[in-house]
Amino acid sequence: MVCMHTKILLDEDQMPRSWYNILPDLPSPLDPPLHPATGKPLVPEDLTPIFPMELILQEMSSKRTIDIPAEVQDVLRLWRPSPLYRAHRLEKHLKTPAHIYYKYEGVSPPGSHKPNTAVPQAYYNMKAGIERIATETGAGQWGSALAFATQIFGLECTIYMVRSSYMQKPYRKSMMQVWGAECIPSPSTKTKAGTAVLQKDPETTGSLGIAISEAVEDAATHGNTNYSLGSVLNHVCLHQTVVGLECREQLASVDEYPDVVIGCVGGGSNFAGISFPFAGDKLKGTHKETEIIAVEPASCPTLTKGLFTYDYGDVAGLTPLLKMFTLGHDFVPPSIHAGGLRYHGDNPTISRLVYDGVMKAVSYHQSEVFDAAQTFARTEGIIVAPETSHAVRATIDEAIRCRKSGETKTILFNCSGHGNFDMSAYDAFYSKQLVDYEYPEQLIRESLSRLPKIPGV
Ligand SMILES: *Cc1c(COP(=O)(O)O)cnc(C)c1O
Repeated sequence: MVCMHTKILLDEDQMPRSWYNILPDLPSPLDPPLHPATGKPLVPEDLTPIFPMELILQEMSSKRTIDIPAEVQDVLRLWRPSPLYRAHRLEKHLKTPAHIYYKYEGVSPPGSHKPNTAVPQAYYNMKAGIERIATETGAGQWGSALAFATQIFGLECTIYMVRSSYMQKPYRKSMMQVWGAECIPSPSTKTKAGTAVLQKDPETTGSLGIAISEAVEDAATHGNTNYSLGSVLNHVCLHQTVVGLECREQLASVDEYPDVVIGCVGGGSNFAGISFPFAGDKLKGTHKETEIIAVEPASCPTLTKGLFTYDYGDVAGLTPLLKMFTLGHDFVPPSIHAGGLRYHGDNPTISRLVYDGVMKAVSYHQSEVFDAAQTFARTEGIIVAPETSHAVRATIDEAIRCRKSGETKTILFNCSGHGNFDMSAYDAFYSKQLVDYEYPEQLIRESLSRLPKIPGV
């Protein structure tokens, strides 16, 4: 009898012991990050006021594998290895010959993939003698993940949460408080950046760009405090590769290898996590045909409509310049419910791989992704995060294409988190209040006209 696996599990001792660093497998080296003031390539010392050296070195490492410290593995074991599911009921519902698999990262305590990097980041900061970490959060997924991780390693945590989310998403704030973090609505009077914004506009609802400026200022002006970022940077993507490394083992245990790998993209961390090990196989030539698909919102179409060029990571222009796909650092996307996908830029490595055609990108509107999320919940049970629903949509569309062509493709997607704290977004879907924002062409053109002019580039 053929055993039809539903849940493919690894033993604890099969959890990866090292992360996969894709940088040495790229066909040519990445363009270096540049200093925002001088336009010169960054040196590690430029970053030491806000990051521990271990993370700075990982950001630019040329080692193909980097060991996961034993103390970090001990914490990851609370929920890792995470399950890989075969979506039998979804396949049947779609009448597709395709095999659909999803990696479920919603099993972590905060409910998403984000603690995969929050835990090592907290650990390396603790090892470096840092006592407190400052960060920003939009919808609250990253803030809750870092609150959980800092609590475990005995660090304090200060989270600047965009004021509109602070008011609208009180339960993510409550989670941060349970895990011992201080959660401050941004803009605040704790920083010069926040105070200046409040003086101009006391009623402002805040933005991610302002919250980043507050957290960076907090870290840069306190010796015992560092800054931490939940996406975009290479070391964040590196930490997420446990996801794809586990998937490769789990699929091999049922004699499968994906033809298509899919993930949603905000700053790129969960997509990098599931796809980099397979992109590495593709670059090395062992699996040349794998299709790797990034899915983004039509209202913030960074990879599908942006420019591949140097830009700042924040509104104020305080961060290093990164060569990436960008919509312009002061582009403010329409307020879709997938808050975690509203970022103007993307991880530099993903950007390069899309530019070189190793990966590709597609975009979808809100109502079509929530429709897919509903189908997924009604067949597979999991109510996914609004961000994740983008990956679900692309997976369903690929499976429908397979039904039409008769191809038995193996499709793998990253189910990056559950949506149990996002029910207001589903409410909006059912009360037909979801807006499918047009592609904001004029806004993007304007913000792209304000890209930084870099001496010598
Ligand atoms: C934050 C978040 C994302 C988007 O961030 P990436 O860095 O692009 O992965 C996607 N899904 C969930 C559940 C998130 O919390």
